[in-house]
Parts: sequence; structure tokens; C-alpha cells
Amino acid sequence: MQFIDLQAQYRQLKEQIDGRIQQVLDHGRYILGPEVGELEERLADYVGVKHCIGVSSGTDALLASMMALDIGPGDEVITTPFTFIATGEMIALLGARPVFVDIDSRTFNIDPELIETAITPRTRAIVPVSLYGQCAEMDPINAVAERHALPVIEDAAQSFGALYRSKGSCALSTIGCTSFFPSKPLGCYGDGGACFTNDQDLATKIRQIASHGQDRRYHHPLIGINGRLDTIQAAVLLAKLDGFPQEVEARERIGRRYSDLLADSVQTPYIEPYNRSVYAQYTIRVEDRDGLAERLNASGIPTAVHYPVPLTSQPALEDPMANVPNAQAAAGCVLSLPMSPWLTRCDQDAVIETIRSAPEDMRIRAS
Ligand SMILES: *Cc1c(COP(=O)(O)O)cnc(C)c1O
Repeated sequence: MQFIDLQAQYRQLKEQIDGRIQQVLDHGRYILGPEVGELEERLADYVGVKHCIGVSSGTDALLASMMALDIGPGDEVITTPFTFIATGEMIALLGARPVFVDIDSRTFNIDPELIETAITPRTRAIVPVSLYGQCAEMDPINAVAERHALPVIEDAAQSFGALYRSKGSCALSTIGCTSFFPSKPLGCYGDGGACFTNDQDLATKIRQIASHGQDRRYHHPLIGINGRLDTIQAAVLLAKLDGFPQEVEARERIGRRYSDLLADSVQTPYIEPYNRSVYAQYTIRVEDRDGLAERLNASGIPTAVHYPVPLTSQPALEDPMANVPNAQAAAGCVLSLPMSPWLTRCDQDAVIETIRSAPEDMRIRAS
């Protein structure tokens, strides 16, 4: 069994994907070829925003967005400690200080009620993460941001395709950043990402920054990066996009089935009734995470831990003064199960049976 079966998807879409890649090889415009613009238009439509800028990764989407907001040394950016390193890393790379606010212990996303007290005169932005495919609690986050005239960047690397109160992830704040890393809900065959915004000026600036700060050839008003989306990756994404809504449905169906059949045995993900999660990860909480993981792995079932260490305890970002008990607790008990739209019923049953038959003191988590 695979944790995410990318080969199954390729087998299903082989003709479209091969055809799209072949077109790029035929026209030879590997950098900013026509597929990039076509993809940006379709993604902007899908998400429901005016502008989409394809970039070279989710990490560069965050970097280019924060550069467009002129974030730099002396600035503070509020974010969550319970995320992939890139979120905090790009803040630090720009010389700004990540200010870590604890998570809501039910959803694992940043707790909006704790944001306001973390705001100082140096705060320049709020970067919530829509973890595991469920959007962060954007209405109260935007309300706090508005009171303090701060931009909000949604790190939507795991939530492309998700809905928050019927609105698409990436369309919920000043800028939405996503990733097309192969294992994300919408993945390409290498690195890729995108920024979304309704703000024309920010869109222009992000586009310039992603292309060495240039506004026309060899003319560079801004400092930028080499952060463009490859044409071949755009081609792969275009081939996958038609089937993406069905994949999102399959993810939801498989996620719900896990929850229905595991609810008595472990703590299953909490999804707000007004949210649609894309289950980038299906992550349970258990008493003996390492024990259960070992048991599953011994039966040929792969697992993962997203994430074993909060950013406040990562050597590169260490912040021992941060008060993030919920993130610390989560890091010790979360376990992600095999999840993809092509997970077969038979494989899912094997995962469920192996968990249900595990000793109770390994599974049940006192909450
Ligand atoms: C994957 C991920 C990123 C980085 O995306 P890349 O495309 O791998 O650079 C950033 N933030 C979160 C929450 C992620 O899961």
C-alpha cells in the first residue's frame, strides 16, 4: 500500500498528461510558455479571484507574497507553529521575526482569539495555514487584521480545492498561496505553486518579483527571485485540472468513511460544519502514536507524522519563550493515514481494521 498513490493517478490520466507535455516539447517555450497563462486563468476562475500568478513552489509563493508586501528586517509576522517549516522559514529568510500564536486544539489551525494580543507596532502581516486541507478560521482572522490594517496571507499549500463558508481556499484573504508539490491535493510532477489575489497592484508586483523583479526584459525596478512556474509543470496541471473536482469529491468521501468507521476507536479529524476539507492529510490523534504507527507499518501500511516538532522547537527558528501548549501536544499525538482519491476500499478497510484491533490504551486519547 502507498501513502499517496500518484502512479494510480498517472495511469488514469496518462493520455492527457503525455499529450500536454508533448505539446510543450513541440513548441519549445519552456519558460513562460502559453500553458502558464492558460493555467493561471483557469485557476483564478476555479478559486474565484481576479489574479493568479504561477510560481516555482509553495515556498516561493510565500516568499514572493511577503516580498510584495515589503516585509523585511525589524518586522513581525504572526503565524502558527504547527505547520511545515516553509511558513516560518520564509518569514525568517526575509529578516523578519515569526511570532508564533498557538493553535485551536480541535482544528489544529491558528486560534484567532489569540492573534490580537500578539499584534505589536512592528506587526506587518498575519499568515494563517489551512492545515490538512481545512481552511483556517478566516472570518475572525480577517476581522482582527482589518482592525489593525494588516494584510492576511493564507498558506493554502494543503487546502487547494477546500471551501470555507462556500468560498474557495486562496480566495479568502489579501493573498492566497498554494503549492503543487506532487503529494498536495493538486500536484504537478516537480515543484510548483501559485499566488492568488484580487489586488491588481499586488498581482503585478508578485509577478515581477517572481521574474527577477523585471517589468520588461532586462529592466528591473525591484529585487526579485527566479520564481516562475515551469511550462511543463503548467501542462501537467492543465491535464489534471478537468478531473480535479471529482478527486476532491473522492477525498471527501474517503475522509468521511475513515471518520465513520474510526470514530469509536481514535480521535478523528474535527471539520467545522461550514467547511469542506480536501483532506490533504487524514490525521488522527492517538495515545501512543509511535506504537500505533509501528503496528500499522508492520502490516505494510505506511504512515506519516505532520508534524513531529512545532516550529518553535526547530533549531533554525527556535523560540523557547513562545507559549504554544496546544501545538506541542498535537506534535506528540498526530498520525496521518494513507490518503488519496485512489485509495481502494480494500486498502482502506485494512487500515481501519488494523487500527480497530490495536490495544485500547494505544488508540484512545484522553481528551
Ligand atoms: C508543502 C507546504 C509548503 C511548501 O510548498 P512547496 O511547494 O513544497 O514549496 C508550505 N506550507 C505548507 C503548509 C505546506 O504544506
